Amino acid sequence: MSAAIYASRAKLNPLVIEGIPSGGQLMFTTEVENYPGFAMGILGPKLITQFRDQAKRFGTRLVQENVVGIEQGEDRTNKTRLRQGYGGQADGTYRIKTDKQTFQARSVLITTGADAIWMGLDSEQRLRGRGVSACATCDGFFFKEKVVAVIGGGDSAMEEALTLTKFAKKVYVIHRRDSFRASKIMAERVLKHEKIEVIWNNVVLEVLGKEKVEGIRIVIASSSPHRRVPRNDTSQVIEVGGVFIAIGHKPATAFLQKSAVLLDKKGYIVTSGQQALEEAKAVKYETKPSRHFNFHYPSMTSATGIFAAGDCVDHVYRQAATAVGMGVAAELEIEKYLEEK
Ligand code: NAP
Repeated sequence: MSAAIYASRAKLNPLVIEGIPSGGQLMFTTEVENYPGFAMGILGPKLITQFRDQAKRFGTRLVQENVVGIEQGEDRTNKTRLRQGYGGQADGTYRIKTDKQTFQARSVLITTGADAIWMGLDSEQRLRGRGVSACATCDGFFFKEKVVAVIGGGDSAMEEALTLTKFAKKVYVIHRRDSFRASKIMAERVLKHEKIEVIWNNVVLEVLGKEKVEGIRIVIASSSPHRRVPRNDTSQVIEVGGVFIAIGHKPATAFLQKSAVLLDKKGYIVTSGQQALEEAKAVKYETKPSRHFNFHYPSMTSATGIFAAGDCVDHVYRQAATAVGMGVAAELEIEKYLEEK
């Protein structure tokens, strides 16, 4: 939406293909208190409506359809030109296929976001935004002096638990094995923290509470290699006011699996800027880059003319404000790219 606001004000005639359900992770949030400009906070869905209204005010068109693929077709008449990285169809456009129709555009910005991976319990979904959260930075403030639980054993879980110690009076970390997957330094910080108690070898059976979270029922995980399978009759209830699920995130990029847009091994889109960072860290990709990155445009993907921004790229910050900023940066790059083209 931030990119659409800029693109429509720049008279680029943007079309936003919103997907169904539209609005992303903010639609599942209640109060957002850390988005600049709203001193008294704003409800997540209301913020999305306001973004959308602002984009529409300058002429952005929106459709509620799901994209199933993007064609950056072969230009049979001029393959060399394509190989040099001009991309697109013979007429210099891209075809964006939804489940209903095909759109044509001079440039594409992918901002499909990511979703937290959830445990898959009905009670967890029912109480999302009512004490069940996947973001301590966003929601930790609401748990001042409360007892909360974090589920997971990776770096995200460690980070969530440490963030929550600033607010909560006690933080349980529930992990399904007897050792953390997280980096040593993060794990040590958690293990040493006086407000944190780790419950090893346990999984959550149910989140308890009618209107808001009141507790969790946990059970000793099976000692089978899959450990997720609970052993019966060992369950216990822990009273908590909040549950933070930190078992990973999944970017919404499945529709790009067979495209020229390079994804990393977790499915995040790799942009030029990201590639520069990853090369520095010498991270290996599942697939080899099929096209060269254009480092003049840090938000461009490995496919020329296709850009990406927000949580489908960023697995570090994952904030509304950072995604908004990435959208703006990508749009400004698109303006430059189209001018140069
Ligand atoms: P992750 O490393 O994949 O860890 C997920 C954790 O959740 C694992 O401990 C896993 O248990 C557990 N888990 C998975 N499914 C579960 C289920 N259904 N029920 C209960 N537990 C479940 O994910 P992440 O922690 O989000 O980290 C993702 C990547 O980002 C990592 O590379 C991480 O290093 C990085 N990261 C870095 C930082 C930092 O450096 N500050 C912060 C956040 C993330 P098992 O261990 O048994 O598999």
